[in-house]
Amino acid sequence: MAEFQSVRGFHDIFGQELKKFRYVSDTVRSLLKLYNFEEIILPVVEYLEVFQRSIGEVTDIVQKEMFVFQDRKGRWLALRPEGTAGAVRAYIQNRLYALKPYVKLFYEGPMFRYERPQAGRYRQFHQIGAEVFGTLDPQVDAQMIEMVHTILTKLGISATIEINSIGCRVCRPSYKKALSHYLEDVVGHLCDVCLDRKDKNPLRVLDCKVETCKEAVKQAPKMVDYLCQECATHYETLRSYLDMLSIPYRENHHLVRGLDYYTKTVFEAVSDELGITIIAGGRYDYLVEEMGGPPTPAIGFAVGIERISMLVKDLPQEEPLYMVIPFGDTLDYAFEVIKKLRDMGKRVETSYKKANLKKQLELANKLKADYVVLIGEDEKRQNTITIKNMHTGMQESISFRELAHERL
Ligand code: ATP
Ligand code: MG
Repeated sequence: MAEFQSVRGFHDIFGQELKKFRYVSDTVRSLLKLYNFEEIILPVVEYLEVFQRSIGEVTDIVQKEMFVFQDRKGRWLALRPEGTAGAVRAYIQNRLYALKPYVKLFYEGPMFRYERPQAGRYRQFHQIGAEVFGTLDPQVDAQMIEMVHTILTKLGISATIEINSIGCRVCRPSYKKALSHYLEDVVGHLCDVCLDRKDKNPLRVLDCKVETCKEAVKQAPKMVDYLCQECATHYETLRSYLDMLSIPYRENHHLVRGLDYYTKTVFEAVSDELGITIIAGGRYDYLVEEMGGPPTPAIGFAVGIERISMLVKDLPQEEPLYMVIPFGDTLDYAFEVIKKLRDMGKRVETSYKKANLKKQLELANKLKADYVVLIGEDEKRQNTITIKNMHTGMQESISFRELAHERL
C-alpha cells in the first residue's frame, strides 16, 4: 500500500525546526509574563458567526480562507483562522470585564486558513497573540509596539515596524468616500478582486498584493489626512511615546491589515530579510460592543511562530547529553547512576544494546552524546563512575557519593 501523506498545507514540526519553534514560543511567552499578561486557552472551533461578525464578511479570511463545516445537528462551525475573535467571545461570555479595570490576555495555538501553501504559508500555522481590553490610552498602543520590538531584539531578528492609523466611526466614512472616488479613476489598473472590493470595502484594495493594484494605489489619499481630532491626537501621542521609548518605526500610510475590526492604530513587523510580515496587530475599539459586550476599547497583536522561526539563526546551547553505558553484570548500579544524574537535572541517554566498548562509543557518537558514563564491574565494586568527554577525549573517575557535588 502507498504510504500516507499529511493533508496539503498541514505539516509536521520536528527536529531543528521544532527547536526554533519552541525557542520563539518560550521567548515570547516569558516576555508576555513580564508584561503581566495572563494566558487563556481558547477552543480551536467556534460558531461560524463569531468569525463572520468580527473579522468581517468582505475579507479574504471569511470569504475564502476558512475551514467551515456542519456538526451533526447542522450547526455551522469553523476552525479558527485567528485568535482575537475567540478571545473577544470569551471575554464577553466569561464576564472578564467585571473582574479588573483592564484585562491583559495571551493565547497560543494552531490557526487554520485555506490558503495556497508556500514557504511560510500553511493551512495550519501557529500564533501567539496578546490582547488588552479596557483602555484607549495610547500608552498601551506604545507598550504593545514596544513589546513587538523587544521580541524581535531578543530573538535577534531584524525587522521594520510599520504603523498607521485607520481612524474610527467618525472619520473613516469620509476617507472611504475619498478613496472610492480615487479608485474610480484607476479602475483600469485594478484586479478583478479589487474591482469588487472597491465598492464593498475600498480599504482592502490598499492591501492587495497584485503588482498593478499596488502601483495604482500609490497616489491614493491617506487616512491620516482625514483623521478626526480624537484619532489625530491619539496617533500623534502614540508617536511621541514611541520616540520616548526609542522604538524605531516607519509610517506606512497605506497599512490597513486584512481584518475589518481594526480602528485607530494598526502595526506590523516586516522582516528585513524576507520582506514578509511576521507580527501584526492593531486596535479594535468597537469589536467587544459589536459582539454583544459592553463598550470596551481594545488592542492586540499576533506573532506568526513559523514565520519567525524561519528567521532564527542561532539557538541557545542545549543541555549536554550524558550517555550511560553498562558493561557486565552492572545494570542495578547503572540504574542508580542514571536516576541520580537525572535527579541532578542532567539529560541522560542509556545504551540498550550489549556490545563492546568500540561499538558503544560509535553509538554514543551517533546519538550526539557529549559525555559517556562508563559503568563496569570495577566501577560497581568501587562505587565510582568513569566519565569520558566525547569532545576532548578526557576521561576521569568520580566517586558516586560525590557525584552531586561534582561540577559535571
Ligand atoms: P498575510 O498578509 O501574510 O497573509 P495576514 O495579514 O493574513 O498575513 P494576520 O491575520 O495578521 O496575517 O496574522 C498575523 C501573523 O500570522 C502574520 O503576520 C503571519 O506571521 C502569520 N500568518 C498568517 N497567515 C499565515 C499562514 N497561512 N501561514 C503561516 N503564518 C501565517
Ligand atoms: Mg493572509
